Amino acid sequence: MSDIIQLLPDSVANQIAAGEVIQRPASVVKELVENALDAGATEITIHVKDAGKTLVQISDNGCGMSPTDVRMAFERHATSKISSANDLFCIRTMGFRGEALASIAAIADVEVRTKRTEDELGTFIHIIGSEVKTQEPTGCTNGTSFSIKNLFFNVPARRKFLKANTTELKHIIWEIQRIAIPNPGIRISFFHNNTPVYELPKTNYRKRIINLFGKNLNQNLVSVQEQTSIVKVSGFIGLPKYARKTFGEQFFFVNGRFMRHPYFHKAIMQAYEQLLPPESYPSYFLFMETDPANIDINVHPTKTEIKFENEREIWQIIHAAIRESLGKHNVVPSIDFDQTGNIDIPVPQKAGDEVKFPDIQINPEYNPFESEKHNTPRSYAPPKSSFLDKKNLGHWEDLYEGAQLKIKPESKEQRDFKTEGDLYAQHHEQFSGKKILQLKQKYILTPVKSGLMVIDQKRAHERILFEKFMEVLKSEAVASQQQLFPQTIELNPADAAVLKSILDDLLSLGFDIREFGKDTFIINGTPGVLDVSSPEIIVEKLIEEYKNSPVDAQSKVKEQIATSLSKASALEYGIELKREEINQLIDDLFACDTPNFTPDGKKVLSIIQTEDIEKIFSK
Ligand code: ADP
Ligand code: MG
Repeated sequence: MSDIIQLLPDSVANQIAAGEVIQRPASVVKELVENALDAGATEITIHVKDAGKTLVQISDNGCGMSPTDVRMAFERHATSKISSANDLFCIRTMGFRGEALASIAAIADVEVRTKRTEDELGTFIHIIGSEVKTQEPTGCTNGTSFSIKNLFFNVPARRKFLKANTTELKHIIWEIQRIAIPNPGIRISFFHNNTPVYELPKTNYRKRIINLFGKNLNQNLVSVQEQTSIVKVSGFIGLPKYARKTFGEQFFFVNGRFMRHPYFHKAIMQAYEQLLPPESYPSYFLFMETDPANIDINVHPTKTEIKFENEREIWQIIHAAIRESLGKHNVVPSIDFDQTGNIDIPVPQKAGDEVKFPDIQINPEYNPFESEKHNTPRSYAPPKSSFLDKKNLGHWEDLYEGAQLKIKPESKEQRDFKTEGDLYAQHHEQFSGKKILQLKQKYILTPVKSGLMVIDQKRAHERILFEKFMEVLKSEAVASQQQLFPQTIELNPADAAVLKSILDDLLSLGFDIREFGKDTFIINGTPGVLDVSSPEIIVEKLIEEYKNSPVDAQSKVKEQIATSLSKASALEYGIELKREEINQLIDDLFACDTPNFTPDGKKVLSIIQTEDIEKIFSK
């Protein structure tokens, strides 16, 4: 038999490599902007059409490329940034693998115009699917301009799996944030479909963060500064009262490069322990500087995972630095100051270079939750409408039983639940209506024939509101409640872009929100269904929920918004409900078409079987 192993042609090898490096339009933006940084640019302009699916165009005023170099740049492992294995241990540039351009050119239509200052003429090169179509001299300005069209044109499977534009745009915005934060000295402009999203002037770190995330952050940012022999930590953290329910404003950078680091994230979360409302995250923007020899960035092609040599020590340093900053701002309660159990930081000391232990001033009176604005209902009131009256609410167990039958056995979870429900139905007896208990201001417990039914109060409310919103969406008449005093809300540019994209749908839900200058909106009316005292907070929470919800198909956008809105406006945990409120909540829940699950598929209720309780006590 003849030999069967062949070397893959470069174009195929590049396509395979592209699968790792270029996952979505945001990866193109990241790679090209990083190249512009490495080229010493001070101004970078990004234009994107249809969330990058049609066009990504990036221009810089960096060093440009010679005619030979621009051709070479598209070869795999072609890089001007390292030349030997030793260089891998002292990487200061963003790129170094020499893979990005080769990968992009393998799966898109790429045009480049580039010129060095010393050259009279620049070069134009056009490559489609790794094939050079044109290369010729051209007149152009100093620097480089890339234009990437029809991404994944020859990888249909990839193209098909791209998400809705809102999701892809969100990824692009994240990449731009990750590059813009550590480079405030570089002017960055970003346009989506010709609309400006960011116009970031050259400034300092603090102002750059505020330009990106909004003026609200200004009074809530505290600086962090810690210098030790192994790492320098600087940057800003958000005050506990500014903490968000969702992830998104947490950034670590090492030597100017964004990184994910779940272990260091824990150091921060622990430093904030007991200062945050439940399930919320503090904002942080931390820059770490260390000798490149102490870190390994060559872990993954997308380079967001970074390994450190002294992780445990750095954990301690970060933790201490955050505590110190919070302490300076009097937000650390005294009871937290028990240092027992903490390990000493075994930092290898250079002479005269000692780790400073934080000198913390505290205000034992401080209660971080005291001044918090309540943005969700403090008690349960049924949605203001008649939809519940249509059904017979006298015997909700009957409705519950009926509701079981309506569930299509789709997911495994739902199938399991159906069996559970059937069991309940079989043993169904008249419910006495007397024994209802609220547990931990979170669950509602009530005995049923087969055991103990447990209802999650927030999830139940989400379901109730969701069905109401869906009804509003279906009906032609929109009930909007006009605000006596219209509220204005100023958002950061990314959130403003999100809100703009869903304004029309919000209108059909009963929100009357208008644009009112750049990134500012005026809320004139809220859905009649909701009883809202602070509409601006509901809108902010809605945006957070919506940004972080997976949008898979464009057609479901309305449902997605209704889901986000019900999550944003539902009763929180930690609220004591009166007996009548609990009854009303249960009635409203079982008036729903699908009481068992939240709109995003989480269990609303469950029955702990009597047999299971008996088993616990059988020994
Ligand atoms: P890497 O960045 O890892 O070196 P790339 O494939 O991203 O690999 O780029 C290959 C080379 O192309 C770079 O090393 C650089 O010399 C050149 N290059 C890419 N983009 C630019 C740019 N915007 N300006 C100047 N040179 C560039
Ligand atoms: Mg690169």
